[in-house]
Amino acid sequence: MRPLELDPLFVPVESLPGIGPKSAEALARVTGRDGPEDTRALDLLLLPPHSMIDRTMRAGITEAPEGTIATLKVRVDRHQPSPPGRRSVPYRVYVHDDTGEMALTFFHSKQAWLEKILPVGETVLVSGKVEWFNGRPSMVHPDHIVAEADAHTLPLIEPVYPLTAGLSPKLLRRSIEAAIELMPVLPEWADPHLVAQNGFPDVADAIRQLHHPESAMDLEPQTPARRRLAYDELLAGQLSLALVRQTLRKLPGYPVNAEGRVRKAVLDALPFSLTGSQTTAVDEILADMAGSDRMLRLLQGDVGSGKTAVAMLAMADAVEAGGQAVLMAPTEILARQHFATIEKMAAAAGIEVVVLTARAKGRERTELLERIASGEAQIIVGTHALFQDSVVYNNLTLAVVDEQHRFGVHQRLRLTAKGTAPHMLVMTATPIPRTLVLAAFGDMDVSKLTEKPVGRQPITTVTIPDERLGDIIERLRAALRDGKKAYWICPLVEDSDESDLMSVESRHASLVEAFGREFADQIALVHGRMSSDDKDHAMSAFKSGQTRLLVATTVIEVGVDVPDATIMVIEHAERFGLAQLHQLRGRVGRGEGASSCILLYHGPLGETAGARLSVLRETEDGFRIAEEDLKLRGEGEVLGTRQSGMPGFRLANLSAHADLLEIARSDARNVLESDPGLATPRGAALRMLLYLMRRDEAIRFLRAG
Ligand code: ADP
Ligand code: MG
Repeated sequence: MRPLELDPLFVPVESLPGIGPKSAEALARVTGRDGPEDTRALDLLLLPPHSMIDRTMRAGITEAPEGTIATLKVRVDRHQPSPPGRRSVPYRVYVHDDTGEMALTFFHSKQAWLEKILPVGETVLVSGKVEWFNGRPSMVHPDHIVAEADAHTLPLIEPVYPLTAGLSPKLLRRSIEAAIELMPVLPEWADPHLVAQNGFPDVADAIRQLHHPESAMDLEPQTPARRRLAYDELLAGQLSLALVRQTLRKLPGYPVNAEGRVRKAVLDALPFSLTGSQTTAVDEILADMAGSDRMLRLLQGDVGSGKTAVAMLAMADAVEAGGQAVLMAPTEILARQHFATIEKMAAAAGIEVVVLTARAKGRERTELLERIASGEAQIIVGTHALFQDSVVYNNLTLAVVDEQHRFGVHQRLRLTAKGTAPHMLVMTATPIPRTLVLAAFGDMDVSKLTEKPVGRQPITTVTIPDERLGDIIERLRAALRDGKKAYWICPLVEDSDESDLMSVESRHASLVEAFGREFADQIALVHGRMSSDDKDHAMSAFKSGQTRLLVATTVIEVGVDVPDATIMVIEHAERFGLAQLHQLRGRVGRGEGASSCILLYHGPLGETAGARLSVLRETEDGFRIAEEDLKLRGEGEVLGTRQSGMPGFRLANLSAHADLLEIARSDARNVLESDPGLATPRGAALRMLLYLMRRDEAIRFLRAG
């Protein structure tokens, strides 16, 4: 149960003064909650301002520089309403002070209201941006107008928050102020030494300071108040991850006792020998699985580093020991592709592999489920469908989750809810920097694939403006004549699915036209709106060589493996993120042939877009690219946003607060070691923190344990 002290903070935002259903919707959007009912006062408290407006400049009318925000004390001289029937002509109110005269300009404003707040002959304070037209100063729609007697109510420093449609800055600020009033006195959960060392204010003060900056410096990430809140957010994150982990660890594991017979059969049938780091990773995984604790391991390896083979070898041991293994992929295309690869590798060892996705229906699905329940199916490849309630396993021993950054923590927990406690291997191709691994996954063991398979050649990357599209098409023609395979990627622009579809389809059409008779039937198209069958068909035709130019959207971004494709053209490369470009480029350079990546951009390039493209030209090192990406974008996006269930940090900034993350991590661990049920007074305070930071989901695990 939620501690009673927190009740005031959990009132729905709709109960705050001035907030109706519409604004509650808007507040839900701006705070990232699921809906208005789920948006509570505390969500407003944890919304940090990103900048501020300084109204401290008090100048005379004619001294206020063009374009700056000033607060002026003026006397109202006369009103000049819009002429009758000509509402487009602004309503002007002329005012003056000792230095001169100016007009306050209003569009479509009510005369009665203006006469009330700007009575002729009165002195008022107005604050807003001063603009000069034809040598005359004016202020269009002042941000604030107050009577001289109420001067103290005019905010001299105003925090500025991210906004969303349907929400005025004033209303947002007012509701935040109302939420601050509700702040109860909370016990201290942070370690006293840490508090003293860092000069942390208590949490209520920190929240107040967050919303009441006094200077630009107060918005910096390293102020004690900001650090305090960042620490709290990180601690809540680490604590919830540690609670989940503690619970999972307590479940009985399935020690995998295998001699490696099946694994050897698979290994012998592989057309290559493992790299050193693949071998090391396999050893680490097998050592974990042999123990009685559940394995929780992250397999990190750049695109093309060969994670699938590692997973296959681990699954082989699980199967030999009499268990089942699942491999979950984020998309249908990837699941199908994994199935094809795994089935081939498994065949040599006589392992039964099936694929289960949402596409299996009716009789086919029933049969599949039976084979899974009976244990006849030994390796099950699929999508989220693998963890639906209707799927019952016979003896699930190992779960491999590919491209984890696309999945939420929820899915991982769902497995546990099924009453099974398989070993978990999480594979990610996004080379996530260490701080992010820690923040997102907690204290997971990590295996890294640091080398690329031998025989790989570097990818030549060039950036070319799209005016030279014609040249590229000619080069592509030559390459196709040489028997090469190429991808041509068109961007997805959020919010305009229709035009995206057009862009990839019309590019496909124009390439078909450009290549005419010679290659027209070898040009294929793949995009997200196609049926899975059509997508599969297009992918396998490309893999087999029936088609050799694949025009696609980013549906092929992760994991697609066609080793003899050697050319990657990315159109509108300036619109893609760094990690995404790296992923896309990673679709080539997977075989023996020399590969190239052509980044077509539409100029002129902005500063960040230019920086992204040059990082990509300079290096293929995924770890370096990830670090640069973090610098250019911030962590929320690197991990994929909130939808994926990953912690989108609001107060903590992982590049600025990496030190706090380390502290939070060890604090979380120490606390749970001495107080695993969070039963001490400090434990009780920490429970409050979990609620406050919306991590209370983890508290469930305390009860379950
Ligand atoms: P990723 O880590 O991106 O998932 P994959 O598992 O898809 O990489 O492997 C990429 C390609 O490299 C595949 O075609 C795979 O067969 C091949 N491969 C994997 N390991 C090796 C190796 N040790 N030597 C040569 N090729 C390998
Ligand atoms: Mg992969």
